[in-house]
Amino acid sequence: MSENLKITGIEIYKADIPFHEPFRIAIMEILCAQSVFVKIFTDKGIYGMGEANPYWRITGETQSINIAGAVDLAKLILGKDPLNIEERNKEMNKYLAFNSTIRSAFDMALYDIAGKAAGLPLYALLGGGKRSFWTDNTISIGEPEYVAKKAVDYKKQGFQAIKVKLGTTKELDVARIKSIRAAIGDKLPIRIDANQGWDFHTAVNTLKALEPFGIEYCEQPIAHWDYDNLRRVRESTTIAIMADESLFDHHDAYKLAVGGCCDYFNIKLAKSGGIHNALKINAIAEGAGIKCMVGCMTETRLGLSAAAHLVSARPNIQYADLDGYLFMKEDPIIGGAQYNIGEITITDTPGHGADVDPAFLKSCEMIAVK
Ligand code: MG
Repeated sequence: MSENLKITGIEIYKADIPFHEPFRIAIMEILCAQSVFVKIFTDKGIYGMGEANPYWRITGETQSINIAGAVDLAKLILGKDPLNIEERNKEMNKYLAFNSTIRSAFDMALYDIAGKAAGLPLYALLGGGKRSFWTDNTISIGEPEYVAKKAVDYKKQGFQAIKVKLGTTKELDVARIKSIRAAIGDKLPIRIDANQGWDFHTAVNTLKALEPFGIEYCEQPIAHWDYDNLRRVRESTTIAIMADESLFDHHDAYKLAVGGCCDYFNIKLAKSGGIHNALKINAIAEGAGIKCMVGCMTETRLGLSAAAHLVSARPNIQYADLDGYLFMKEDPIIGGAQYNIGEITITDTPGHGADVDPAFLKSCEMIAVK
């Protein structure tokens, strides 16, 4: 039997990274990435890195809530075995209900430690293979002229799919997509995301009107809690429906699958509580014949690297929306997933392979628990 590792300390960092421009979705506006980095130390010199990037209107967590939660979670796992990820997750889930984003930072750091301890990149630790894949790039809510200009820009850069934020009025949302199609032609796939912005009738009417525009799928047309109407929206349109805010963990995945509520799942570590539960969601999806996407909030390349390894390891994850990094003015991350336009390549460095530049970390407020 191998000698277990022990968690000897946790550092919690408040990290703000500016965006090129504000990011607007139907339910909120984000001016900069307000992340929390978690660094978990062990007695064998191995440490793991995790990131939380909370979207308060979605998970109910802000950066300050995440920092407070991180201190409590750190005290909870101090002195324990980081390789028993099952137990650590059980403990964290039981102790701190909801708060999936900060729990995901700890889960991600534990997987990073496990990979480093095993000498394996995360995708191999998860029993999967290595593959490069593409992320789309997202356009914020804006005037039809603005979104068309952005779409042309993304097309010129070489992106292979464009995601457009909608969820306002039928007239404006249809005008946005019309304007984009007129500017970029028919070929490039367009994915749309209403972020719960429509009510049932607006969703049905808007999606009907958007059917001729080659929409690959629509994320979360209506309120997250309205599973029954999500199924009815799905039945009313030829556009595929992807559950996002309706899907946090594997319990939601089961209910959505049994209810026939959607065609696809959008898994985000920030909603599932990390990789451990994300794997359960994907397993339920495979059982139900549902393909997945892995999406993001607006994490740096650190959180995105963990997500990228998950995508690589599980071919049932057919789509990736890991574009948070593309919004940022700075890249404080060393190593990790590399971006060539929208093509993401992971490395064979043990763990998720990403770390934060020590100079950047030094500039962040920090709380240590030991
Ligand atoms: Mg979404």
